[in-house]
Amino acid sequence: MTANLLDFDLEGLAAFCERLGHKRFRAVQLFRWIHQKGVARFEEMSDLARDLRERLPSVAQVRALPVLAEQASTDGTVKWLFDVGDGNAVETVYIPEDDRGTLCVSSQAGCAVGCRFCATGHQGFSRNLTTGEIIAQLWYAEHALRRRFGTQERVISNVVMMGMGEPLQNYAALVGALRVMLDDHGYGLSRRRVTVSTSGVVPMMERLAQDCPVALAVSLHAPNDALRDRLVPLNRKYPLRELLDACLRYLPSAPRDFITFEYCMLDGINDTPAHADELIDLLRGHGGSGVPCKVNLIPFNPFAASGLQRSSRAAVKAFADRLNGAGIVTTIRKTRGDDIDAACGQLAGEVWDRTRVAQRLARRSDDWQVVALRRRAEPATTTESTR
Ligand code: SF4
Repeated sequence: MTANLLDFDLEGLAAFCERLGHKRFRAVQLFRWIHQKGVARFEEMSDLARDLRERLPSVAQVRALPVLAEQASTDGTVKWLFDVGDGNAVETVYIPEDDRGTLCVSSQAGCAVGCRFCATGHQGFSRNLTTGEIIAQLWYAEHALRRRFGTQERVISNVVMMGMGEPLQNYAALVGALRVMLDDHGYGLSRRRVTVSTSGVVPMMERLAQDCPVALAVSLHAPNDALRDRLVPLNRKYPLRELLDACLRYLPSAPRDFITFEYCMLDGINDTPAHADELIDLLRGHGGSGVPCKVNLIPFNPFAASGLQRSSRAAVKAFADRLNGAGIVTTIRKTRGDDIDAACGQLAGEVWDRTRVAQRLARRSDDWQVVALRRRAEPATTTESTR
């Protein structure tokens, strides 16, 4: 099979070009055409050496992921469902805000961690995505959005590895993808604007600090081990004390001077004032002087199999007030796309049943403009370029 050039960071692409008898600067040109200009056809890469341009189609490809579905909300949010083969699909979501455009990217088809409140976790694990499949989500989204907005300027300013999967259980592919995101010849994102979200794979947090430190978010969801064991099964392997120790060790390498803790608010499970007080004690007391952090409260997106309910607005606000009152900066995530099963994994879980996906998208077309539902048969290299 031909090489997928989306699999390579710049060093990898330079080695690939060298094997073809070309110098590093050719790799830089190629990298910029692909990632900065969104061009997949080698014949359009006008400043590449002619012999390289002619050789590449027989040995390489820019292999995009086929788009199964695309939904665009009236609030500007766009969600794509990408086909990754063998009946698996992954989701990618673009969330525009006043001062940024954030892309939520998936790292695995399914997930082995099995968090109780997570639709992806309920589907089980299929496989790791490759670096190319992780980057293909950003590549497609960035250039599709530029075409949509009629701009050559960068649209996506932030990436959060918070889609389907536990990114630190797909470490090698993740780090390769992060390097492409951060590279000035690639997407040029700052380390502060790329966030890896983990449920707490402690040894890999240490490695990330050494290999490619970016902003870190930790899915906490509970203030004690007994509850977290039930909500995030990985806690049985890496309990809170070890997890928070790892956070403290990560911080000196981190581009931000705090860790973000995600806390999904579940009615009657983890959302009482007593839970808030326990969380305050945990975060302020750990290691003697506490963990520098922000807390992000996430209203739960209910799905039938979970048997869980979303906390009331009043409970979420009271929880936030209590944490803020104790000096822990706490925000409440705005919910978007309640109408489309926006919780990660809910749409992909039905990919096996294409008819049902189509019906669901059509049913929601009052609120969402259904832009497309298609399976692309043509090879990825025919993807339109931005030029
Ligand atoms: S919340 Fe994250 S780590 Fe937990 S099951 Fe879902 S995708 Fe996996």
